[in-house]
Amino acid sequence: MKDETSSFHPPASSFEYTPTQVSPRDCLYALQTPVRFLKGVGPKRAAQLEGLGIKTVEDLLYHLPFRYEDRRHIKKIHQATIGKEESFVGKLITLEKRYIPKMRRQILTGSLADGTGSLGLIWYRVRPYVAQSLARGQTLLVHGKVERGMGAQKRIVHPEFEAIEPGAEEEKEHILPIYLKPGGIPLGAIRRWLDQALLQYGSLLASFLPESIARRQGLMDLCRAMKEVHRPEKTADITALNQFSSRAHRAIIFDEFFYLQLGLGLRRKGRAALEGISFAKKGSGLTYEMQGMLSFSLTGAQQRILGEIYQDMESSRPMQRLIQGDVGSGKTIVAWLAALRAIENGFQAVWMAPTELLAEQHYRNLKGFADRLALSSAMLTGSLSSKEKKETARQIEQGEISFVVGTHALIQEGVQVPGMGLGIIDEQHRFGVLQRMALQGLSHWRPASVPPLPQPDMLLMSATPIPRSLAMVLYGDMEVSSLDEMPPGRTPVRTRLFGEEGRNRMYELVREELRRGHQAYVVYPLVEASEQLQLRDATRMAEEFSQGLFREFRLGLVHGRMGSEEREQVMRRFQGGEVEILVATTVIEVGIDIPNATVMVVEHAERFGLSQLHQLRGRVGRGKDPSHCYLVCYDGSSPDGLRRLQIMERENDGFKIAEADLALRGPGELLGTRQSGLADFRLANLVRDSRLLLEARKEALAWLAEDPALTGKQSRALRQILKRRWGGRLELGGIG
Ligand code: ADP
Ligand code: MG
Repeated sequence: MKDETSSFHPPASSFEYTPTQVSPRDCLYALQTPVRFLKGVGPKRAAQLEGLGIKTVEDLLYHLPFRYEDRRHIKKIHQATIGKEESFVGKLITLEKRYIPKMRRQILTGSLADGTGSLGLIWYRVRPYVAQSLARGQTLLVHGKVERGMGAQKRIVHPEFEAIEPGAEEEKEHILPIYLKPGGIPLGAIRRWLDQALLQYGSLLASFLPESIARRQGLMDLCRAMKEVHRPEKTADITALNQFSSRAHRAIIFDEFFYLQLGLGLRRKGRAALEGISFAKKGSGLTYEMQGMLSFSLTGAQQRILGEIYQDMESSRPMQRLIQGDVGSGKTIVAWLAALRAIENGFQAVWMAPTELLAEQHYRNLKGFADRLALSSAMLTGSLSSKEKKETARQIEQGEISFVVGTHALIQEGVQVPGMGLGIIDEQHRFGVLQRMALQGLSHWRPASVPPLPQPDMLLMSATPIPRSLAMVLYGDMEVSSLDEMPPGRTPVRTRLFGEEGRNRMYELVREELRRGHQAYVVYPLVEASEQLQLRDATRMAEEFSQGLFREFRLGLVHGRMGSEEREQVMRRFQGGEVEILVATTVIEVGIDIPNATVMVVEHAERFGLSQLHQLRGRVGRGKDPSHCYLVCYDGSSPDGLRRLQIMERENDGFKIAEADLALRGPGELLGTRQSGLADFRLANLVRDSRLLLEARKEALAWLAEDPALTGKQSRALRQILKRRWGGRLELGGIG
């Protein structure tokens, strides 16, 4: 550790927050300095660093140790304990190269003595720098795992070592931060650059959190925090450091969470400030009539969420609410009752689904209700003839139609919905932000003579439940309702794991179900790198099945290379019962409802995430008959992989499964990369740090309650940093 850096240590006190003295703009600018401007980083090193994602000084400072080693206690050699990682200081009294014929290579051995005993040092692989930097008579600090050696002498194989001045032991005792092994770059170099970066740029790390928040949360400023995580003091709590829960870590993590939550909160406030439609409570009474027509009563969760939606709709702020609920939890009826609230108030409701099949399914179900309520409804999808499309669009535009179900075609065909009061998006994660905004914008067009309407309300639906912490990040700018109760009378799908040896038994079970007149899915994973191979797999299996095991049954095949029309055709035949066993390479339509399908076989289940498997399993268990999900794992699967899959056997609750999936694989995998931009943190971890996330959210919202548009004096710096960090991802173009 370099001495000059110790000037960073402030006197210990309970509150260590010194706001950055330089203007935010200057800080942000300075931290963007390319790493190659650091002493000792040449073009070659800079390119290597860039390969690690480290381009700027800020990136380097945020390259944090992933582990800490306790080097605070230098032991005497006679106290060395076999099996423990320990440090010793002594004199190198012997050093020799030996050729070992049996190993056909040279090894290096030495012994270290400190007056209490001697310790063997062995290098089986002699790197040039090792041989060059060792010499007999040196005083060495060595570290490594103590092993039993020859005879009485204990030894360390491939010790880490450093030549030191005799008597300098004490100042060498420290907590050693370990960094991710950077390909080809010596750790020593990384440490040196970090020392330099801390010294030159540490005070420019932008600590602009309001002091009241820092005080309440017990946060230190980023300059101190960075110094502590990179160069912890000897007295630091090493357990806390290793768990990323030290005060320094907390400060850095809080800082990350706070700005994102501030941005999300700001976006929500911005929308709330727009004028929306205030739907009267009763209107003409359609919702009341509809509830009377239902053959079941709403679950408690459905009632609660409907209450939340109605409250939003009555308020004059535009609603932006997400309903997340497992497949089959009954989102459709809730959304339909919301649509009716808009319609009974004289507005139109538009429902967008990601595929034609789903749009058709919804339309079929809901048109029945609409007809009985004497409402005019229509479906608008890409496969209508252009004449039909034109006519439907005209009717919508004239207000002759109150309820429209459609696909992307709704936003692509230039349809205008002047009386749109509510937009509903099913499987919302299949749409991008722009598409969602486009749907909301369908009402904006009007003839010059008509004054513009206020913003329509929006209701989004998702059948992929995600944990609360992740929802707070992804949907932090919306209201979220969780439909966490299943309608009564469902028999949960029985899930079983099979290995190769169980395959034939499993096929026999599938055949039994088919003979009973039920249908089955067989799904193969789609692995991007070997799509070709997978494709051949499914195709080959489909052929084998149709000539062998499943000869007596009609078989269909869908895969990623088919056009969407062709694929939907096969799906339709499956839906109609013409196809009895469906082999698929791609994930089949989420939300497709085929009650007669009672078996889901997933091949290579170990390649799927738990949430994905849960989605697949949700395709069955939709009728009155008991359903089965068979997960076949490849024999080479790791024990960890199998344990992971066993969760599927025990657990049917999508929220709990998502929780486990997030913990096991992280947000990127859980969500797919497209959605995970907002869950991209440098240090923060949504599972580990969920409590801190809650705190950061609370503080950000409280701050916005005081200063809703961030226009106050103290908010100026916040705005600038917010814009820099999240402006792009949150589309906060207007701020700052
Ligand atoms: P999802 O949330 O996956 O969209 P659906 O809305 O399609 O689920 O509902 C699945 C099935 O459950 C439908 O057949 C629906 O009619 C039925 N259902 C919905 N709510 C209830 C309820 N409260 N009681 C009984 N059945 C219900
Ligand atoms: Mg649905």
